Amino acid sequence: MFRIGIGNDTHKLVEDRPLLLVGVSVASDRGGEGHSDADALLHAITDALLGALCEGDLGVHFPDNDPRWKDANSVQLLSRVAWLVRERGLQVVNVDATIMLERPQLRPYVLSMRENIAEVLGVELSCVSVKAKTGEGLDAVGQGLAVSAQAVVLLRAN
Ligand SMILES: [Zn+2]
Repeated sequence: MFRIGIGNDTHKLVEDRPLLLVGVSVASDRGGEGHSDADALLHAITDALLGALCEGDLGVHFPDNDPRWKDANSVQLLSRVAWLVRERGLQVVNVDATIMLERPQLRPYVLSMRENIAEVLGVELSCVSVKAKTGEGLDAVGQGLAVSAQAVVLLRAN
């Protein structure tokens, strides 16, 4: 049995916030605004896993009006959902993700991001793809106002 899930997330970029992507700190003068650590890529991957399980979304499991999740570490949220995947007798086959950010260039950070995702999900590095794109100066991403991410995951029964 296979299950597929898709996830999407966007955060507004503001000054004086760290820019975190899969727990990797990206050198930037702005970072994501949000109740949590605003890690758009982790949120997209976590939502994709919840989608594959038909388990709602991040907001259902970790409500942003719940003080327990204020400044929550999104690596911990992903790791809780990865536990839920195993609990259901499923395992991750692969993850494919895209980050949309105008600047800085993310290429130097991509390997660390893939390593972090692979470690939390307990899969080989070759099962985790992270791609980085810009908004070509067009939309909110293109104008440097937002960071956005999409992810697709495939699960299979153990
Ligand atoms: Zn988010």
